[in-house]
Amino acid sequence: MNAVADGADAPRLDKTAQSVALAVLRHGPIARAELARRLGLSSPSLTRLTKELIRTRLVRERPAEQRAATGRPSLPLEINGDAAHFVGIKIVTGAAYAVVTDLAGDVITRRRVGTRARAPGTFLNRVAELIKELRADDPRIRGVGVGIGGPVSDGNSVRHAYFLGWGEVEVGSILAAAVGLPVTVHNDVKALTLSQHWFGSGRDCQSLAVLTLGVGFGCAMVINDALITGDRGISGEIGHWQLRADGPECSEGHRGCASVMLTSGGLARLASEAVGAPLEFEECVRLARDGDPAVRVVLETSAYQLGQLCARVADLIAPERLILCGDGIDFAIITDDVVRRGLADHRSSLADPDDLIMERLDFFDWARGGAALAIRHYLLG
Ligand SMILES: [Zn+2]
Repeated sequence: MNAVADGADAPRLDKTAQSVALAVLRHGPIARAELARRLGLSSPSLTRLTKELIRTRLVRERPAEQRAATGRPSLPLEINGDAAHFVGIKIVTGAAYAVVTDLAGDVITRRRVGTRARAPGTFLNRVAELIKELRADDPRIRGVGVGIGGPVSDGNSVRHAYFLGWGEVEVGSILAAAVGLPVTVHNDVKALTLSQHWFGSGRDCQSLAVLTLGVGFGCAMVINDALITGDRGISGEIGHWQLRADGPECSEGHRGCASVMLTSGGLARLASEAVGAPLEFEECVRLARDGDPAVRVVLETSAYQLGQLCARVADLIAPERLILCGDGIDFAIITDDVVRRGLADHRSSLADPDDLIMERLDFFDWARGGAALAIRHYLLG
């Protein structure tokens, strides 16, 4: 991942120290013995490394609640959240959502700015102003991370931000030049997945799949504790996998792909055709919840296919957990049992029952994904 501005006071840790800091971040408070076991380090090596991390104030000993009567107590280690703060941004059409987090990923501040700007330069100017305002209030801010819909492979440029109508834009360089902080950019679903893996409901997993429902259909994966980027940042592009051979055509000419069967707009179109009147996505969810038979059939058909799609992803990477989220998640929540049936019906017979969870996340949760990128850059370079 590239830095696009000088991160002069970022800690310079060697690979082993980085792995210790990351393990404390993800699993802390954690006992030294457990940390040594996880990382396969000897006790003297760990002692040397943790001493250094405590000296640089990245890690601290958690105060003992009750000291042992005899002997020197071994205090668990945790990340020192106050050591540095970070701005995370999620860019959507017409607005930017920002959070400030501490080094432990805990959210301190939330801020949203709306803008009518469409052109990338004007839009990013507004985002830069927001970052400067946050920094004026919080001098501990050491870096910025941005999640944006579209492929990003170098921590800097989005190649094609389809929903914003942008071509290739060097989002990281533009913002870094404007605010004077290191800025790291990534695809928004991948950024969200990183924060779910480090701080959220995937924290205890080494392998994870996150599927997002909404205006688009997104997918990102963690395998063996590594967020998968893929060649040119385009892994997880499953939004055009076919789910139904006789389904309607998408903008790219496929029949019945995920982009028409599972997105908010696609579901609204299918339901509108079924009832013979124009419906918005939110109305479809409400009608289906209230038991409207025609809309219910449409949503349940798509829900079963969503389960089938989850099964394909799960068969491919065998994640410990599947997380469904995104602003269109209510569709899956109200058809939960059908999604699970579609998953179970299509999953490999070798698999154990899947750990599938559905989460309502807002755009500030997505912005926290940006902060996770900034923290990753700060700690791991
Ligand atoms: Zn398609």
